[in-house]
Amino acid sequence: MADEIRSENFIHRFIDEDIAEGGDYYGERVHTRFPPEPNGYLHIGHAKAVCVNFGTAEKFGGLCNLRMDDTNPTKEDVEYVDAIKEDVKWLGFDWDDRFYYASEYFPQMYDFAVELIEKGLAYVCELTGEQMREYRGDLSTPAKSPYRDRPIEESLDLFRRMREGEFEDGKMTLRAKIDLASGNFNMRDPVIYRINHMHHHRTGGQWCIYPMYDFAHPIEDALEGITHSLCTLEFEAHRPLYDWVVANISAPCKPRQIEFARLGINNTVMSKRKLRQLVEENFVSGWDDPRMPTICGLRRRGYTPESIRSFTDQIGVSKVNSTVEYSFLEHCLRDDLNERAIRAMAVLEPVKLVITNYPEDKTEQFEVENHPNHPEMGTRTVTFSNELYIEATDFMEEPIKKYQRLYPGNEVRIKSAYIVKCTGCKKDENGNVVEVYAEYDPETRGGNTPDGRKVRGTIHWVNAKDCLDAEVRLYDNLFTVPDPDSGDGNFLDFINPESLVVRKGCKVENSLKNAQSSDRFQFMRQGYFCADSKDSSPEHLVFNRSVGLKDGFKKK
Ligand code: ATP
Ligand code: MG
Repeated sequence: MADEIRSENFIHRFIDEDIAEGGDYYGERVHTRFPPEPNGYLHIGHAKAVCVNFGTAEKFGGLCNLRMDDTNPTKEDVEYVDAIKEDVKWLGFDWDDRFYYASEYFPQMYDFAVELIEKGLAYVCELTGEQMREYRGDLSTPAKSPYRDRPIEESLDLFRRMREGEFEDGKMTLRAKIDLASGNFNMRDPVIYRINHMHHHRTGGQWCIYPMYDFAHPIEDALEGITHSLCTLEFEAHRPLYDWVVANISAPCKPRQIEFARLGINNTVMSKRKLRQLVEENFVSGWDDPRMPTICGLRRRGYTPESIRSFTDQIGVSKVNSTVEYSFLEHCLRDDLNERAIRAMAVLEPVKLVITNYPEDKTEQFEVENHPNHPEMGTRTVTFSNELYIEATDFMEEPIKKYQRLYPGNEVRIKSAYIVKCTGCKKDENGNVVEVYAEYDPETRGGNTPDGRKVRGTIHWVNAKDCLDAEVRLYDNLFTVPDPDSGDGNFLDFINPESLVVRKGCKVENSLKNAQSSDRFQFMRQGYFCADSKDSSPEHLVFNRSVGLKDGFKKK
């Protein structure tokens, strides 16, 4: 029910109104776009924007474009472009053939700028950046702009020469002629073109003037026939300028900008600049390090597209910025994996358990369910012999209070196999337990007690004779504090030194031999795991803990 209310989010209501009104809403169908700047990998914040844009189009039976917003001539990389496409696709969205680069529109943008000059709505300004700031005015004083009334012909000539490369960087700008006294400083004759003699990754040296974002973006939207331009809240104060551009150029359509709140998650950082710093300074192994809040990191960690979509659905869309708890993202993953993960056994801190009354040369097979609630997920075979591995923590020579696992004299259920009674252990010269001993009760096959006696503890195990070695990587928050960005400290000061714990020499059941990174497992009593997509192979198994079993998310 709550979901229904949320899906009626304010963006959808605005669109409903637009459709009902007709009028300015000229479109046949709703058309949105997701416009990332290809200067880094997508993160979970972008996933929200992807879901909002593609999801809104989906809801209204419309279309959503994927557009690289590459109007800045900085180092943009095909690596990023390909990764962005892969991530959006993986999230489950399809742009069909509507993939664009904003830089493709440079010629039209130039023409629209000329159109504005011709209409007396833009002029070439020769103030330096410093002067411009100085002349900006304040709430009670309008800005000053000495070149504002320069003749149209002169501006047209200068703008053409700007484009031809006659002037150096910063020498001139093109400014929109709007309102020097506006209470919204974005409207005080904003710069819409600047000179920048820089190589562009797609257009090369073709241009030495580049449009500013506020001028470029509405044009990109208009040229693509976007009806609703959904963006984050920081663009709210830019909307009047967006509308002004759209209203004053002879563009084919008049898109409407609607802003929604950015997603923030605690115990992590989200800006691409900071994520890049983590990568470049080797705090993590790469953009796809499973601790990163990037889509590729989450994917490698074992997140499913469904869990991320469910997360963005449930946090909803609002007008108020807020921070979501990391544990809620984990909660959504757990919810999804609980249904789809195959159950298996893995021992992360192994110690050998010897069943002293079980024949040494015997091996038994048990057919166990892959999922307790989904018979359609089938069964698998686990083998049992006189030598098993169990967790070292499942034995205590001298039990603490309420301890119900193995200690001398106590009975425990070896999951799905037999009931065993602990008889003792062997220790090395340092007093460390190296082997635990027990006797099994042949009457309890399958872990049942025919006489109905109570056995409280159940432990997981693997057969020492056919189990596989594995490396297991346990992850925790990348940062120790909820908001590493706040305060005067450097966010790097709050890196969690225990965000990655590597366990080598773990033992996993034989059925995991061919585990693929796309498979999802619940290791009994341990959590949800997947094979690492980069480092795992049948010769060297590596598992990532996607999320633990215990739900740390508390509904407020
Ligand atoms: P960052 O600040 O992380 O570098 P950005 O806004 O510069 O992000 P863009 O590539 O320009 O990154 O973003 C593409 C789209 O994703 C934009 O429409 C932007 O509003 C949206 N977006 C970016 N970060 C978030 C976020 N945390 N929550 C929701 N939407 C976001
Ligand atoms: Mg940006």
